[in-house]
Amino acid sequence: MKTLVIEKEKLKHNIDILKSMTSSTIIAVLKGNGYGLGIVEFARFLLDNGIDYFAVSEISEAIKLREEGFENNILLLTPASSDEEAETIVQYNIIPSIGSLNSATLINEAGKRLDRIIDVHLKIDTGFGRFGFIWNSIGDCHSFLKSLENIRIVGTYSHLSFSFSKKAKLIQVQYERFLKCVEGLNQNGIRTGMLHIANSCAFLQYESMHLDAVRIGSAFLGRIPIENKYGLNRIGYMKSKIIELKELPKGYYIGYANTYKTKRPTRIGIVPVGYKDGFGVEKTKDTFRFLDILRYIYHDLKLFNKRIYVRVKGKKAKVLGRISMYNIVIDTTDLDVSIGDEVLLDVNPVLIETSIKREYL
Ligand SMILES: *Cc1c(COP(=O)(O)O)cnc(C)c1O
Repeated sequence: MKTLVIEKEKLKHNIDILKSMTSSTIIAVLKGNGYGLGIVEFARFLLDNGIDYFAVSEISEAIKLREEGFENNILLLTPASSDEEAETIVQYNIIPSIGSLNSATLINEAGKRLDRIIDVHLKIDTGFGRFGFIWNSIGDCHSFLKSLENIRIVGTYSHLSFSFSKKAKLIQVQYERFLKCVEGLNQNGIRTGMLHIANSCAFLQYESMHLDAVRIGSAFLGRIPIENKYGLNRIGYMKSKIIELKELPKGYYIGYANTYKTKRPTRIGIVPVGYKDGFGVEKTKDTFRFLDILRYIYHDLKLFNKRIYVRVKGKKAKVLGRISMYNIVIDTTDLDVSIGDEVLLDVNPVLIETSIKREYL
């Protein structure tokens, strides 16, 4: 009863824009089921359009791509935390990130056991406080890194904590820390391979930070937490249908908390899509955390009710009352519609459960 539609032309347009903005390698970040576009379909589409370097967060995502026959570079952003994981990474020819003594040792040992030299990316923590060797103490690890005989560093990267901010200074600080680390490594005879720090927002705003590669996720979808001055299309809409129609009298409440009362006899349509599907998320603030979204919904819905629309048969229909988890009620009084008619809704694909069908049109 619900399908997530991805318009190929629009997606291709975004890819073309992003490619035209840089000569650096574009690493497509495909975490979260490819930002909801369906990891396998999206990966195939990217490959068909000339993007052949991928990054994922989970080993299972990388394995899935390998099992579907992808043979290109896949960088795993999350470091290994056990021997078992390290061996799986090596066996599937996935590029691990090493960001600590532990993760580096695990990979090196796996390389030894399997008699392989493993290509890795070195992760530097320049102020995110998550994965990576801390920028101002990595000097202490130089000799350790050099001693890893089964590892070859083919890339070095860091992640920005504030790329969507207008405070360029914060971003600059991380960037400079990164370059300083790289310089220190190189001076000590450690090769750093391809350098990358920019995610979508940094990529779009700071050309000077493109370095050898950029890691792009949200920009492919045109759903970015900064002003879209780049002509990127918003990718993804939900296709559902009206499953019920009924007449309500004037003065009748609709939905949780009685926030809406009919102003006239109203013919309502019920559509089985709710905030669980990411519907009703504030438009200018695309976000990728479900909890944030629930928070926005909680605060904004009262104000929002008047402004949310869906499309039925090419016409706008207003959403009445609060959006609930699985359903919305729309006003079809002035529309000539029947049960089963198609309804189109704007949703952020990343929130759509993997089990829901993806359709590339
Ligand atoms: C998610 C992620 C990205 C991509 O971020 P976008 O802002 O969606 O482009 C890049 N790098 C890392 C390490 C990430 O986790």
